[in-house]
Amino acid sequence: MKILLVDDSRTMRNIQKKVLGDLGAVEFSEAGDGLEALTAIASTPEGFNLIMVDWNMPNMDGITLISRIREKDKATPLIMATTEAEKSRVMEALKAGVNNYVIKPFTPEMLLEKVKTTLEKLKAVA
Ligand SMILES: [Mg+2]
Repeated sequence: MKILLVDDSRTMRNIQKKVLGDLGAVEFSEAGDGLEALTAIASTPEGFNLIMVDWNMPNMDGITLISRIREKDKATPLIMATTEAEKSRVMEALKAGVNNYVIKPFTPEMLLEKVKTTLEKLKAVA
């Protein structure tokens, strides 16, 4: 499966890579902001099985990226990583089209569980 990690923190992307590598054979792509993510998406016609999106990023933030993705693509699973401070804005993210969210800091177990349940739920309705 192909996963796109969008976060301006390389450390966070590395953590996510390590944790989500447990899902099996995963090919990761990375982007440091929303604009880079749109470029990665445009150059990956086969699409991603999951996109992890950070909220706060330079150039284009996560919520804008989510809206841009959902203009054309309602299907790709999107999970937002938010901080505790952004928790009150989770409704906004859900309205923009994220399938789920995970609050930072998270344990590896929390992240893996969140991703697994999200992917399973989406498979069930597909
Ligand atoms: Mg950030």
